[in-house]
Amino acid sequence: MNPSPKHTPLLILGAGPAGLAAALYAARADLQPVVLTGPELGGQVAITYMVENYPGFPEGVEGPDLVARFKEQAEKFGAQLVLDTATAVDFSQRPFRIQTTKTEYTADTVIIATGATAKQLEVPGEEEFIGTGVSYCATCDGHFFKGMDVMVVGGGDSALEEALFLTRYANTVTVVHRRDALRAGPLLQKRARSHPKIRFLLESVVTDILGDDVVESVRLRHVSSGETSELPVSGVFIFIGHHPNTDLFEDQIALDARGYIITDKHMRTNIPGVFAAGEVADSRYRQVITSAGMGAAAAMEVTHYLENLSDATP
Ligand code: NAP
Repeated sequence: MNPSPKHTPLLILGAGPAGLAAALYAARADLQPVVLTGPELGGQVAITYMVENYPGFPEGVEGPDLVARFKEQAEKFGAQLVLDTATAVDFSQRPFRIQTTKTEYTADTVIIATGATAKQLEVPGEEEFIGTGVSYCATCDGHFFKGMDVMVVGGGDSALEEALFLTRYANTVTVVHRRDALRAGPLLQKRARSHPKIRFLLESVVTDILGDDVVESVRLRHVSSGETSELPVSGVFIFIGHHPNTDLFEDQIALDARGYIITDKHMRTNIPGVFAAGEVADSRYRQVITSAGMGAAAAMEVTHYLENLSDATP
């Protein structure tokens, strides 16, 4: 470890809506927070074309634009954003120690806001068409597929819930699932199966996403027969689960069975002084507004925590 680490009262890991809202609130409380942006400034919203459900933007706001505004506002009040990524943490004693790709920090408190990453199918064409037909968020992008034929990949609650949501806009929604039985709960299954716009292709996997500038079709393979087919669609919505970005904390912080950080309603983890906010601790709501709210709350809790700490110091 670096012999002279940089010290900060608050280190925020991650610069998505949760991390940047935490940075804004902490900066305004004069905590001079340092934010490690990680590899992707802005998190998932930065790759969302248009956000239409963030209050205050009735015309909608492009994801990267919203991130730029969050960043500008946090920096205006003194948050320091650093393009660096934590590579190891030691929460066993205070101050906490955080090793990064460039240096080492010590911190009195930490807010973990490293987010979650949508699982990818890892098929040809997927990466290439992100933003031009491939999406991981129906709430964000469904609106752009008015009157078009779209596909949803996955058989869980998210896939069916999002498929139902997409029927508001799309002409047809084809749900492609790799097994012959859906994983989703019975109520959602019943609603999806009885919807006139939704049809199912079971025991089928996507092998290629095809198109020129935008998605035009998907190549499928039937799992038992091995037969291949091509289905013309304009949108491919992939809901095969998320990975919370918690690998770094596995041995340090209490995680639930799916790897999400366990917090109480005050964003506290099991380690006093370490807080978590946003999708790294939330598999349920996963919205910009809810993540930002959790970030703000975590920063307010940090403020109280540090005040109590200094009151307790003789
Ligand atoms: P999930 O329950 O893990 O379902 C993921 C789905 O994707 C499964 O059907 C899985 O297939 C499929 N899948 C995984 N990897 C795949 C791959 N590489 N290729 C093709 N298919 C793949 O995830 P989720 O639907 O996001 O739900 C996460 C949690 O949130 C669940 O506990 C769920 O109940 C909850 N949730 C609840 C609600 C609600 O109550 N309204 C809404 C959304 C989410 P297999 O079935 O073959 O494994």
